[in-house]
Formats: sequence, structure tokens, C-alpha cells
Amino acid sequence: MEQEKHNPLTPLSEIGEFGLIEKIRANVVNTAPQTIFGIGDDAAVLDSKGQKTLISTDCLVEGIHFDLSYVPMKHLGYKAVVVNLSDIFAMNAKPAQILVTLAASSRYTLEAIDELYEGIFAACQAYGVDLVGGDTSSIPKGLVLSITVLGYADEASVVYRNGARLNDIICVSGDLGGAYAGLQLLEREKRIFMENSAVQPDLTGFDYILERQLKPEARKDVVDLFARLGIKPTAMIDVSDGLASEINHICKESACGARIFDERIPVDPQSVILLEEMKVNPTLAALNGGEDYELLFTISPADYEKIKAEKGISFIGFITPPEFGVKLETRDGIQHNLEAKGWNAFGKE
Ligand code: ADP
Ligand code: MG
Repeated sequence: MEQEKHNPLTPLSEIGEFGLIEKIRANVVNTAPQTIFGIGDDAAVLDSKGQKTLISTDCLVEGIHFDLSYVPMKHLGYKAVVVNLSDIFAMNAKPAQILVTLAASSRYTLEAIDELYEGIFAACQAYGVDLVGGDTSSIPKGLVLSITVLGYADEASVVYRNGARLNDIICVSGDLGGAYAGLQLLEREKRIFMENSAVQPDLTGFDYILERQLKPEARKDVVDLFARLGIKPTAMIDVSDGLASEINHICKESACGARIFDERIPVDPQSVILLEEMKVNPTLAALNGGEDYELLFTISPADYEKIKAEKGISFIGFITPPEFGVKLETRDGIQHNLEAKGWNAFGKE
């Protein structure tokens, strides 16, 4: 194509694996206190400074976890890091390093991978995390991005899924269902575009839900809030698969039940507008949509006074004895079993 002649893209094969690694390395400035040595040797060297080390990993596969027809590479890089950091925050710990393993087909250009790393570095910078290593490989088709994150915390402050106790208050940060609403919008516009490429996507007025889907943030601020308020949640998990599945995880690990109140589940007005347009019940999107990366946690009733005035935290229910089960109570007082897949067929009421 004419344009490509003027501005040729660089096939990855031209720069090669070592060239790519050198390029990545040149952009790295380590800042976390635990990073002794990062990229450039057979292994990174870290010092946990007497704290416990937390480690988690996530693998994103093109066609399964992301669709590059509407996800820009930069956003993909950013989101891939953020979803990993979210797992460390969900343990009430602080992430400090990541490793990035990248496998790309020869279809990808250096420019595309540069954009991906721009997003990765933007997230590293936003959260004060160092890129200390990884691996680079080619694959026959598509793109696979696997990120491993390391975090640190004092032993006493680590919060597990298994600590929820009878009468604890169930809390959630931010709002839910927004990332799902954003995805519905993107898929709708993609469908319209596929049918008629002369119609440009109309995304006006939906910035918030698009951002929830394309550029999610991890709730570092909520972990900082706990420290400031002197609260240690009794149990915590990040909302990656939807409220229904996460509350079930906490209840299973903590051997308890839960009573959640429908009208207390926070859903942003923009999500409600889009979801209603799409004939999706907003509560169901909050329960089963996923990818919101909010924190779902339980606190002892004794801590409620300290946190009750916080605007970005919703108090959505209570921990019950295990025999009660995991239930969602609607406005009319009807209790539904809250299974990991929600209390109704997903989609329509
Ligand atoms: P090895 O042969 O020991 O696997 P590599 O040549 O793959 O070493 O890697 C050299 C250095 O570059 C190591 O520090 C490794 O962690 C880092 N590295 C390799 N690929 C990536 C990547 N995609 N992103 C960040 N660092 C990487
Ligand atoms: Mg290697």
C-alpha cells in the first residue's frame, strides 16, 4: 500500500529477539526498593526487605481474552498489567515487580509491540512497579501475553479469602457492571460496522464504561485507604469474574454464607443506560459481567464506624452461617440463590 511505502513498518524478524529485548531494556528505570537487578542477566535479583513475597500470574490469549479489532495494543498492555496488580492488591499487599512473557506471530510488527510496551510501561509508572524480566518467543498465530507480578506485605497485613466471619459486613469498592456494559457497546458497534463499514461507531456519551472496559484501574487507593483508616479486612478478593462468583469464592473459602441486598449493589448510571438499551438487567451485569477489578471485602462490624462515611465504598450485605447459603435479596424481600452464574439466565429478565 502507498502509505506503507512512505512509513514502512518493521517486521519483528528484522530486529530479532535480542534486538527487541535490548529495546525494551533501554526503556526500563527500576524504582521499587526491592529491585536489586532487573533485565539483563539470567534472572532478576530481588530483596523482599523482610516482608512476605506474593506472586501471581495471568495469561492473555488473542481471540480468547482480547479482540484486537477494537482493543488498541497500548490499552492491551496497560490492562494486562493492571489485572495482575489487582490480584496483589486483593491480598492487601503492594505490587513491586512484573515479568512479561510475550509470544507473537510474524504478523506483528515492531511498531505494534512498541505500542504494547508503551501501555505496559504506562501501567508500571502509574503504579510504581518495575519490569524486571520476561521471555520472548514467536508462535504460529496470534499473540499471547503472560504477566507475572510480585508484591510484598508484612505477614500480619496479608488478607486471604478465608477470613470472613459471621456478621461481618460485605463491602465493595467503586461500581460494578461497567466493564461488561463497555464490552456490550464495543461489540454492538463492531457488529454494525461489520454489516456496513460506512457507518462509523457511535460511542459518544459512554466514555466511562469504555474506559472501564479498555483501561481499567486496580484499586491501589483502596488498599491505601485501609492503611489510613487502620482497617484490615477479614477477607478480600478482586472482582474479575463478577460479584456472584467472587462472593461464592469468599463464602466457600471462609465456610460461611452471605446475604446480599440487590438495591445496594453499586452500578454507575452510564452502565444502567447502556445495559437497559441492550435489554440487560444491570444487577445481572454486576453479578456476572466481570472485569471490573473492584475489591470485594468483608470487615468486622467493629470496623464499620471507621469506614462508613467513605463515598467510594458500598455496604452490600452480611456474612451468615453456612446453612443460609449465598443469597441475593431483592427489593420485594424475595431471596434468590446466588450461584456463580447468577440467579437467572444471563441476558434478559
Ligand atoms: P534467557 O536466554 O536466559 O531466557 P533472554 O535472552 O530470554 O534470556 O532474556 C534476557 C533478559 O531479558 C532477561 O533478563 C529476561 O528476563 C529479559 N527479557 C526477555 N524477554 C523479555 C520481555 N519480553 N520483556 C521483558 N524482559 C524480557
Ligand atoms: Mg528467554
